[in-house]
Amino acid sequence: MSTKPSIAIIGAGHAGLVLALGLLDKGHQVTLVSDRTPAQIAMGRITSTQLLYPGARAIERELGLDFWDGLVPAADDLEVTVVGPDGDAAFSWRTPYLPGPAASVDYRVRIPYWMSIFRRRGGKLYHVSAGLEEVESLAASHDLVIMSTGKGEIGKLFEKDKARCTYDTPQRYIAAVYVDGLKVGDRLATEITPIPGVGELFFFPVLTITGPASLLMFEGRIGGALDCWDGIDAPADYLNQAKTIVDKFAPWASDRVADVTLTDDNAVLRGCYPPTVRKPVATLPSGRKVLGMADLVVLNDPITGEGANNAVKCAKIYLDAIDAHGDQPFDESWMQQTFDTYWEDVQWATAYTNITLEGPQHVRDLVRAASVSPEIAQWHADSRSTPKDFFPMWNDPAQAEAFIARHTAAVAAVR
Ligand SMILES: Cc1cc2nc3c(=O)[nH]c(=O)nc-3n(C[C@H](O)[C@H](O)[C@H](O)COP(=O)(O)OP(=O)(O)OC[C@H]3O[C@@H](n4cnc5c(N)ncnc54)[C@H](O)[C@@H]3O)c2cc1C
Repeated sequence: MSTKPSIAIIGAGHAGLVLALGLLDKGHQVTLVSDRTPAQIAMGRITSTQLLYPGARAIERELGLDFWDGLVPAADDLEVTVVGPDGDAAFSWRTPYLPGPAASVDYRVRIPYWMSIFRRRGGKLYHVSAGLEEVESLAASHDLVIMSTGKGEIGKLFEKDKARCTYDTPQRYIAAVYVDGLKVGDRLATEITPIPGVGELFFFPVLTITGPASLLMFEGRIGGALDCWDGIDAPADYLNQAKTIVDKFAPWASDRVADVTLTDDNAVLRGCYPPTVRKPVATLPSGRKVLGMADLVVLNDPITGEGANNAVKCAKIYLDAIDAHGDQPFDESWMQQTFDTYWEDVQWATAYTNITLEGPQHVRDLVRAASVSPEIAQWHADSRSTPKDFFPMWNDPAQAEAFIARHTAAVAAVR
C-alpha cells in the first residue's frame, strides 16, 4: 500500500490524465473521475483540435505518455498566409517547427487510451458527472482534490478572477471539421490564414479514430462574415459550410478542399465561449479546499492553439509540486503557490492569445516581417512552445518596431 498522499482528480481530460498518470508513476494512490466512459468519448463528437507544439510534446515524451509518435501525421512546418484587403493572399511564409514537428492526436483516440493505461497501472477510475456532493466526498477521503473539468459547469465553484479576465464575452465563433482527402504536399504544415477584421482559417494534420486525416478550423469575429454557423446541424451541412468558407475567403485553396469528406459524422464542432481566468482555490461548504487546473482556471480562445499545451505544462508543474511536498498537508497556501508557479508561465500564453485576438498593427507588422526575415519566421514558430518569448514585442509597438528593424532593412519594408 502506498504511503504517499492520496490524490483525487475530477475531470479526465488532457490535463487531468497527464497529472493522474504522472502521479501513479510516482507511487501515489490516484482516483480519477470522468463524466464520460472511454467508449462515450471515442464514439462522441470532437471537442478540440488539440495541436501540441514541440515543447509540450517533449514533456509528454519525458513522462512516457507519447504513444503516437510515428503514427501521428505530424506538422513539420508552420505556414501563414495573410489575406489582403482585395481578398487575395497578400503574403505567405513557412518555417519548420524546431526541434521537431507539432502534432494533433484526436482526444477521441488519446483520452480513452490513456484511461485504459491509467486503470491498468492501478488507478481508480469512476464514471460520474461530479457535483458538489461527489467533490465533498472525495475531499473528505483524499489528501488533495484537484479539479480539471475544463469548461464544465462545476468549475463555477471557482470565483472569476476579474482582474485577470480581459473579456466577459466570446471573441470568436469557432467551428471545425475533420476530413479525408485534403490535398497536401510531402511536408505537412499547420496552415494559418488570417483575414484581418474577419477571422482566421486553419488547416492541419490530425490522427483521428479513422487514422491520419486533416482538420479545418474556422475562427470568426463575433458578428462578422465568418460568424456564420448558426443553424448548421447536419454533418453534411458542416462540410458544405466549410467548403463555402474556403471558396469565399481562400479561393486559392478551393481546389484542395473540393473533394474532402468528413472522417465520420461526429467529426464536427461549433460554439463559442468567453476566455476566463478563475481564482485557483475553491472552498467547499464543509470548509475543505480544492485546487483547479488548466482550462478550468485559465481558459483561452483557441486562436493560438495554446490550451492543450498549457494543460500539459500545468500538469507537469502540479506533478512536480505534489512530489516535492512529501507528506506535508496540502493547505491553501500550497495550492495558491502551486497555481502561482503555473500562472508565471501561462500568463504569457494568455497575453499572447488575447493580443492576437485583437490583431493590432504592430502584431500585423510582426507577422508580415516573417515574410522577409527567416529569423522572425522562426521566432514565430519557436515562441509557440514558449509564449513568453513573444514579449515584449507582442505588447509593445516600439519594441516590435526595433525587433523588426534589427532583422530587416527597415520597418517600412514590411508595411
Ligand atoms: C475548437 C477548439 C480547438 C482547440 N484547438 C487547440 C489546439 O489546436 N491546440 C491547443 O493547444 N489547444 C487547443 N484547444 C484548447 C484545448 O482543447 C484545451 O485547452 C484543453 O483540452 C484543456 O484541457 P483540460 O484538461 O483543462 O480540459 P478538457 O480537455 O476540456 O477536459 C475536461 C474534462 O472534464 C470532464 N468534466 C467536465 N465536468 C465534469 C464533471 N462535473 N465531472 C467529471 N468530469 C467532468 C469533461 O468531460 C472533460 O473530459 C482548442 C479548444 C477548442 C474548443
